[in-house]
Amino acid sequence: MDEQIIKRTRKALEANGFRTEYLENRSKVNEYLASVMEAGSSCAVGGSVSLFECDVFSLLRSGRYEFYDRYEDGVDIKEIYRKSFSVDYYLASANAITENGELIFIDGRGNRVAAIAYGPDNVILIVSVNKICKNIKEAWLRCKKVACPKNVKRLNIDAYCAANGECRSCQFSEDDLFLDSSRGCKNTICSDTLILSRQTSQKDRITVVLVNDDIGY
Ligand code: SF4
Repeated sequence: MDEQIIKRTRKALEANGFRTEYLENRSKVNEYLASVMEAGSSCAVGGSVSLFECDVFSLLRSGRYEFYDRYEDGVDIKEIYRKSFSVDYYLASANAITENGELIFIDGRGNRVAAIAYGPDNVILIVSVNKICKNIKEAWLRCKKVACPKNVKRLNIDAYCAANGECRSCQFSEDDLFLDSSRGCKNTICSDTLILSRQTSQKDRITVVLVNDDIGY
């Protein structure tokens, strides 16, 4: 990703009330997290391939934190989702970022978008610079042509985009930007869309960590 685009995006994110950080590659992520998350603090995660690819779970499971681990055998997942709203730190990624400083998320269940929109006091998003898009329309197309098809494949869900590589209606009309694609997709993972723009009452609550590496979808 062009350096000027990264700089411009960070500036726009900060103007919108997000904190930002930039890391050279995935190997720097755990060092950064350990420097900002105090030992003994509680934490939880939203579903994120980026977190796995940065080996964040080795840090969260190290005993340094009170980690509500949604992947632990036998846990009550609904209970973990509810606890996730009040932890000290919530970690996740975004599906796309715009150069205008907006963040886009699409969920099938809504637990991640709910916690990010109004949950823990500190949210840290680990996001590849490759997810930066020019504007909302490009970001939406990225979700529908890259993130969602890869996610349905990973989750072994029988949705149109798993077999065809893009959403069933990527020729959506601009008048119907957010609804057209999931209509008629019986196994959709695109139930809940969240766009974060300027943060005023919750300024600096969310930190966007841009990683100059090809991680996540
Ligand atoms: S609506 Fe269905 S086909 Fe379209 S991206 Fe989502 S899961 Fe894939």
